[in-house]
Amino acid sequence: MNATDNPPLVTRFAPSPTGLLHLGHAYATLFAWRLTQSGGGRFLMRIEDIDQGRCRPEFEDAIFEDMAWLGIEWETPVLRQSERIDVYAEALDRLDQQGLLYPCFCTRADIAKEIEQSSTAPHTQTHGPDGPIYPGICKALDEETRAARIAAGEAHALRLDMDKAVTRAGSLTWFDRTRGEQTAQPEIFGDVVLARKDIATSYHLAVTIDDAAQGVTLVTRGEDLLSASHVHRLLQALLGLDVPEWHHMPLLANEEGIRLAKRDKAFTLRAMREAGTEPEEIWAMAIRQIARAAARNEGI
Ligand code: GLU
Repeated sequence: MNATDNPPLVTRFAPSPTGLLHLGHAYATLFAWRLTQSGGGRFLMRIEDIDQGRCRPEFEDAIFEDMAWLGIEWETPVLRQSERIDVYAEALDRLDQQGLLYPCFCTRADIAKEIEQSSTAPHTQTHGPDGPIYPGICKALDEETRAARIAAGEAHALRLDMDKAVTRAGSLTWFDRTRGEQTAQPEIFGDVVLARKDIATSYHLAVTIDDAAQGVTLVTRGEDLLSASHVHRLLQALLGLDVPEWHHMPLLANEEGIRLAKRDKAFTLRAMREAGTEPEEIWAMAIRQIARAAARNEGI
């Protein structure tokens, strides 16, 4: 195999416009962009705006403003998840035809109550990376009841039957560039929601479909989403999608050692820009924060 046989690197930044970008986002996006600059590759963007209740146009404008300030160039058109509901519906249909989905009418309160009341064995895991593991209330409903409740207009989500899905897909692995080969363990999530009650998709479904649709070969994102990759790998197998590699990046923390969030005003790119920081300083600042966090963890 010669160098030209290597698939070109395609990576992306996929922010949700729910707040201002901070130093951690800058680090992740600069990392991805620099890879495409040094190795020859494509840098794409995607606006993850399925959560319409939390997304704001002014945050989206700010994302593009910050990216341009950082000197990053992205390809157009930018993919926008809120415009792709039909694509997600088609994938849901395919999963449904394989008998892997079921409607769930539960509220969060129903789920919490069920978990509290059920006398699970002491070591049974009740929570996964996304919160409570669904205790299966609606999985037990018969087809007639499901159809009647849907016909009556009852709001429902669609959940993946994890046991069936894992059996169907068999054992899977995925590759993280800093951690090496990982054995997929999607079962730690339980029956994940793939279509929410309020919008007919979910983070896990949309991100998996869109990374494949955009031809992404390397997913770069924060370590907080490391475990999500188990579910994404499973969905890729079930939907016959190409499998990228992943690079999960360390999360940046503030001076108290608490992970940066969009509400940490001092670390937003806008605040730093307004305070006179030059875009060229941002990469070094991020690296310094990471080194500080590492030192703090080691008790230095
Ligand atoms: N939209 C997600 C966020 O802003 C990131 C999704 C991803 O990179 O997979 O946290």
